[in-house]
Amino acid sequence: MKPSSFNYHAPTRVEEATALLAEHGDGAKVLAGGQSLVPMLSLRLASFEHLVDLNKVEGLSAIERVNGHLRVGAIVRQAVAEHSADVAASVPLLSKALPHIGHFQIRNRGTVGGSIAHADPASELPAVALALDATIEAAGPGGTRKIAAADFFVSTWQTALADDEILSAVEFPVWGPGSGFAVEELTRRHGDFALAGAVVGVQVSGDTVTKATIGLFGVGPTPLRASAAEAALLSGADAAEAGKVAASHISPVDDIHASGAYRTQVTAVIVRRAIEAALKEARS
Ligand SMILES: Cc1cc2nc3c(=O)[nH]c(=O)nc-3n(C[C@H](O)[C@H](O)[C@H](O)COP(=O)(O)OP(=O)(O)OC[C@H]3O[C@@H](n4cnc5c(N)ncnc54)[C@H](O)[C@@H]3O)c2cc1C
Repeated sequence: MKPSSFNYHAPTRVEEATALLAEHGDGAKVLAGGQSLVPMLSLRLASFEHLVDLNKVEGLSAIERVNGHLRVGAIVRQAVAEHSADVAASVPLLSKALPHIGHFQIRNRGTVGGSIAHADPASELPAVALALDATIEAAGPGGTRKIAAADFFVSTWQTALADDEILSAVEFPVWGPGSGFAVEELTRRHGDFALAGAVVGVQVSGDTVTKATIGLFGVGPTPLRASAAEAALLSGADAAEAGKVAASHISPVDDIHASGAYRTQVTAVIVRRAIEAALKEARS
């Protein structure tokens, strides 16, 4: 199938892109890597009169250290971030999550910003952004604003971005020494979206866990923070106990891929495994 016809815009400046969005309202859609949008258009699950392509917009493809954060521009390709030594050294959780996205062909075109703006609850990168308390930079006709990841993911495929805003960058906090990170997920086949997944970061001092973050994906309408499990871990619970706590606070629904009960059961296991791996790395 082919998409419905649309007007294609290729702005070169952020101001031009946001002006086009403001002019055409909900008749316009941003195009980044096209790995989610183009299949939706081709299958005619969605249609828009105007596509605003960000790929030629200047200033959206840098990876840089800024004030204790790693700033990743909106159209940095997932494959570029995956192979970046800066990303691996500064935000290992992002580095570890990226290879789980689909297949390398998808990551060659798909963007970090596109994955986060798309806000698929089964996606890895929104969970990483949420778990790390990342800051989303939104650019609109009136300038830029910062949105905490905790406020960004509103519902399935819905974010706090206004119709005339683009996600221009994501700022991930850089953790200090004694940290460890892990990503665990269950998929039916390599490259599929996860039936359930967990991203974990811990920081230790000797035997004590001093900082813990756990993000879940594929088990709710948005990525979720397993706050009760984080608190349990900080209070001395072991990985298996924290996994059970994480699972006891979610209510995934049944769908064609798996039942909610199965996803809940799997969550306890993958959270345990991710905590064990993150602790091992933090202590090594
Ligand atoms: C076979 C297959 C398997 C996949 N498996 C996975 C997987 O396992 N895990 C996973 O996370 N993803 C998976 N994906 C999706 C892939 O990661 C996409 O790259 C990603 O979801 C969207 O990024 P994109 O740059 O391609 O965005 P696009 O497809 O161009 O856009 C997606 C949506 O986000 C909006 N958007 C994009 N960028 C911006 C921006 N800067 N500002 C505002 N809005 C924006 C668009 O308007 C659109 O609504 C898969 C895709 C395919 C085709």
